Amino acid sequence: MPKKTIADQKRKTPRKQKHSKSVVSRKNTTIPISVFDNVLKQFGEAARKLKLDPSMLEFVKMPRRSTIVNLPVQMDDGTFKMFTGYRVQHSIIRGPSKGGIRYHPGVTLDEVQALASWMTWKSAVVNIPFGGAKGGIVCDPYRLSKGELERLTRRYVADMIDIFGPDDDIPAPDVGTGPNVMAWFMDTYSMKENRSIPGVVTGKPIILGGSLGRSEATGRGVMLTTREACKYLKLDLSSATASVQGFGNVGSISAKLLHELGVKFLYVSDVNGAIYNPRGIDIPKLLKHVEKQKTIVGFPGSKKVDPEDVLHARVDILIPAALENQITADNAARVRCKLIAEGANGPVTPEADKILEKNKILVVPDILCNAGGVTVSYFEWVQNRIGYFWTEEEVNRRLEEKMVAAFKDVLDMSLNNKVSLRIGAFMLAIARVVDVVQLRGIYS
Ligand code: NAD
Repeated sequence: MPKKTIADQKRKTPRKQKHSKSVVSRKNTTIPISVFDNVLKQFGEAARKLKLDPSMLEFVKMPRRSTIVNLPVQMDDGTFKMFTGYRVQHSIIRGPSKGGIRYHPGVTLDEVQALASWMTWKSAVVNIPFGGAKGGIVCDPYRLSKGELERLTRRYVADMIDIFGPDDDIPAPDVGTGPNVMAWFMDTYSMKENRSIPGVVTGKPIILGGSLGRSEATGRGVMLTTREACKYLKLDLSSATASVQGFGNVGSISAKLLHELGVKFLYVSDVNGAIYNPRGIDIPKLLKHVEKQKTIVGFPGSKKVDPEDVLHARVDILIPAALENQITADNAARVRCKLIAEGANGPVTPEADKILEKNKILVVPDILCNAGGVTVSYFEWVQNRIGYFWTEEEVNRRLEEKMVAAFKDVLDMSLNNKVSLRIGAFMLAIARVVDVVQLRGIYS
């Protein structure tokens, strides 16, 4: 994986950003799919199975605090432009709230609330002492200069400085952000205290207190949970075929690590297009191509195909690793893989889940599949607190232990209750959060 962040890689080639497929057409009308509604549906289905106290469930379901800021930022030409930023802290029941910051033109409060909520359940699935949060700024980071991005980041931190902190709320990278943004974040926060506070963010550059293994952690978690799911399905990884949608941090690392286990990737897409090679795409060479060209498009030996083909390909494993609402009621019946490993958050809607289940397609849900990122973020935070840093082998060994245990817990919950892995994961997570509330009580 190139050392530069995805934002760094792409800054030189500004182009039109596509938005997530967050609309569904029904009888000539276009109805937006609320991502937060999707989470509430997933939560509701799992909660009904758990038969817990309804008032307790109501308390843990809703976001604790949502903050919206309007940020004036000086552009390179001297003018000022306003940007809207969000931070949603969904839960602090199991520990400080934790979750990434997204820079994307399609960011909305609804989306940030959904992503914050998934963080609460994700941290509980892998059993780490964090709650959930998420942040976002409505912007196209590939159309801003480095200086504009830095000023935007610093103003975002400054306007919400009181809500962040290593014991309060700890951001990390997400779509459109990377170690560079985390470095500015850490510096701005540290200036307020007049000392270095590395534990206020994770996903930092290594020399600023980042953890070895963090930049690969989400993709490594996707690889590990895919491997465990294939064992369960008795699918031989070394002869499996796959497709991946999105070739950023999560998609590219998942593909690289699964490729190393023998998986043949027939289709890869990014925001600019999709490529196909029936003999298998050489992933290490594609990574080098992306480092230079900033896109997968034009990779020698591959054929350009329709991006939708990536989702509908006849392959064993499909990894959606871009944005939400990619597999919906409209296209789920056309999905022909055996296993979906959700690298992205929320790529499959609840309606699509039902169709996939009927068609016997196993879905490893986001709150399990991509939890490797928050797990190593937790390791980074622990290392920052103790001031001693682990080797990459140590980080990867601990990550594997956590992911394999979480996969087993979720699979057991799903088999014992005859529910999907997603509902099993939600049941496990909700029960863990409610257990804590029962001991702490509700202060009122
Ligand atoms: P990224 O910005 O590094 O990469 C996103 C990729 O998706 C890029 O290759 C982009 O070109 C592609 N993309 C965007 N729109 C697309 C479209 N319509 N079709 C095909 N490709 C498209 O972001 P990332 O960090 O890899 O995050 C991807 C997903 O994984 C998000 O849902 C994010 O919330 C989730 N996630 C990320 C982390 C992390 O540690 N970075 C952790 C957990 C979950």
